[in-house]
Amino acid sequence: MSRIVMKFGGTSVADLDRIRNVALRVKREVDAGHEVAVVVSAMAGTTNQLVAWCQQLSPLHDAREYDAVVATGEQVTAGLMAIALQSLGVSARSWQGWQMPMITDDAHGKARIESMDGALMISRMQAGEVPVVTGFQGVGPDNRIATLGRGGSDTSAVAVAAAVKADRCDIYTDVDGVYTTDPRIVPQARKLPRIAYEEMLELASVGAKVLQTRSVELAMKERVRVQVLSSFADADGGDLPGSLVVDEDEIVEKEIVAGIAYSRDEAKMTIRRVPDRPGIAANIFGPLSEAGINVDMIVQNISADGSTDMTFTLSRTDLPRAQAVLDAGKAMIGFAEVQTDANVAKISVVGVGMRSHAGVAATMFKTLAAKAINIQVISTSEIKVSVLIGAEYTELAVRALHTAYGLDAV
Ligand code: ADP
Ligand code: ASP
Ligand code: MG
Repeated sequence: MSRIVMKFGGTSVADLDRIRNVALRVKREVDAGHEVAVVVSAMAGTTNQLVAWCQQLSPLHDAREYDAVVATGEQVTAGLMAIALQSLGVSARSWQGWQMPMITDDAHGKARIESMDGALMISRMQAGEVPVVTGFQGVGPDNRIATLGRGGSDTSAVAVAAAVKADRCDIYTDVDGVYTTDPRIVPQARKLPRIAYEEMLELASVGAKVLQTRSVELAMKERVRVQVLSSFADADGGDLPGSLVVDEDEIVEKEIVAGIAYSRDEAKMTIRRVPDRPGIAANIFGPLSEAGINVDMIVQNISADGSTDMTFTLSRTDLPRAQAVLDAGKAMIGFAEVQTDANVAKISVVGVGMRSHAGVAATMFKTLAAKAINIQVISTSEIKVSVLIGAEYTELAVRALHTAYGLDAV
């Protein structure tokens, strides 16, 4: 007997047929004698619609009300999944964030989970009931619903797995594992039977949305065994194995580059002619961080005449708020103008092998040059190289790099 958390993403619960189908999959695990908790996302497309409604009413909407709206998608699917399970004769009960409770901080819209007590859920599971948990939401210190950022149901699943001390956290999605890159844009991508936590963490953080970054962070910290697999494979036992996220030393044959990720959710801001003096970066990035805006790549040019240009990237959705923050601070910072460009994409190559092998960045630059793709910004970490390019070159760049690093399936 094992204790398993099964998480189903948006496409896996996209309509009533899919919900019935995954309920059968849950029943199969229950019938095999396992204790199961289920975590669900909203039906595919629902969250996008809810987000769009908030933005249409006001681009600078209140984050607490945004959370009140966007968290509803998961409430629908949790209730429907419980009904589907009950109609198959499986004892089940839905749980929303505030009921467990899943306690978060107060960063509405991208809250972090602070704690969850699994005792009640464990006792229900031991009594043969399947808890069906709303992914993506918790409750903040202000006693209001807080959502965990897009893709946050993965993190809910890992948090539930840690709280109930599950043997495994199975993330069911519309691909059958983690691939060397998004198989939707590179059909020759290869499935990785195992991927190291650190590589998965980097890939997720630079755009491989198969797992939310925080879910990998939490799994690494809490030692949760995460498996990514397809809910579309045969529900009666013919499943293909998925991908396991494991410690680096559990991987025998390590590649220099494990995978390539892209993010189209990027925007570039350039602040022209900022005075080049101590404290200027703090004056720019302090207020942005207080507004909950994360910046990523930062480039500051050398000043010629006492002023300089500062370029950085941020999430495209944060662009209106960042613009408002900089406009408000213009007199204090003292710059000429802000230029924005939302037509950019970030392409990253990731692999633990980079620690010991030179030449990964050079191969990236040569490959992009051969395709006449201009690199606008570069940033690196120990196991990653990222470049910012024009959004229209995203697919061309990812495909060319996938081939250049020898990742294409033969
Ligand atoms: P869910 O709704 O189940 O959470 P997501 O759409 O969030 O599903 O994540 C699954 C998608 O992630 C896949 O359909 C695939 O297009 C994309 N993806 C991006 N990079 C990768 C990768 N390296 N391996 C597998 N899938 C990836
Ligand atoms: N429904 C949420 C989203 O679309 C959470 C998730 O799917 O993980 O972002
Ligand atoms: Mg997802």
